[in-house]
Amino acid sequence: MDLAFVLWFQSINHWFVLAVFRMFTFFAEWWIILAATAIFFIWGGWRKALKYLIILGIAHLFVFAIKELVARPRPFTHNGVVDYNHTFGYSFPSGHTLNAGIPAFFYIHNFKKKLFIIIPLLVYVGMVALSRIYLGQHFASDVVFSILFSWLAIWAFGRLYDYVEARILRRNKTLTSNSEEQTQKIARRFAHTLNDGDIVTLKGDLGAGKTAFVRGIATPATSPTFTLENQYATRFGRIKHYDLYRIENKSELLEFYNPEGITFVEWPEKAEIKGTVSVEIEKVNDNERKIHINY
Ligand code: ADP
Ligand code: MG
Repeated sequence: MDLAFVLWFQSINHWFVLAVFRMFTFFAEWWIILAATAIFFIWGGWRKALKYLIILGIAHLFVFAIKELVARPRPFTHNGVVDYNHTFGYSFPSGHTLNAGIPAFFYIHNFKKKLFIIIPLLVYVGMVALSRIYLGQHFASDVVFSILFSWLAIWAFGRLYDYVEARILRRNKTLTSNSEEQTQKIARRFAHTLNDGDIVTLKGDLGAGKTAFVRGIATPATSPTFTLENQYATRFGRIKHYDLYRIENKSELLEFYNPEGITFVEWPEKAEIKGTVSVEIEKVNDNERKIHINY
């Protein structure tokens, strides 16, 4: 049945079909890994790019092990579409389809869901899968397994990665800063550990450096004391910055949580805001500050 499908598919013997499928197989070679890494790095920063590479690496290890265990020979080829003598390795499951499925499902799970990106991605995965069958390298069951497995890998290894990463990155610490610039640098390093939806409470006396800390992440940030809220588009995503020092009525804050970005709140105690992460800045002297970060 699996073989019958390969044969039927290859019976559509046309140079154009062959060219299209060769192109899609080419689009799932190793260099797609580099291209996808670069795109995820530009759109999401090094954390996203690293997460993608690690999930892909673990998934390929699994696929390698499954190939060796199952050791299913590749389907023979028909009509000289692929030179049978030059095919090597095992058939189950399809590595190229995994190369296509992992970045596609990674995008869908980790970035904003936009249909005009998701649909072409799914078409791409489907075309790569079909190309592997047409070129006589795989059975339909190989590519179906790879698609399901790449989805599962994104879900399961992604969760595992998030858990381990949170344990490594999100550890409580106290840092010392001797200048506003140093505080801003600490803030930027800290911002890399945040996730969408985090609410960072900033505590400390007037002039401790709470606004200076936010300025490290959203460069033009000034105190929103009189406007209550400022918003910035930054490389860490959308940042909302509140200063509740003069808040009189908590109902002014109804729209305050931002699931799509990161929220910073100075004087959270004025409205009993419980954040997900707390930053406390302690003024030691004119220039020295102790910065306590608690997740
Ligand atoms: P807050 O928002 O906590 O009231 P600001 O950030 O508005 O405080 O002001 C902090 C002031 O302290 C700034 O004038 C800044 O230049 C100064 N400063 C001196 N040393 C530091 C430091 N190590 N970190 C942050 N700010 C510092
Ligand atoms: Mg301030």
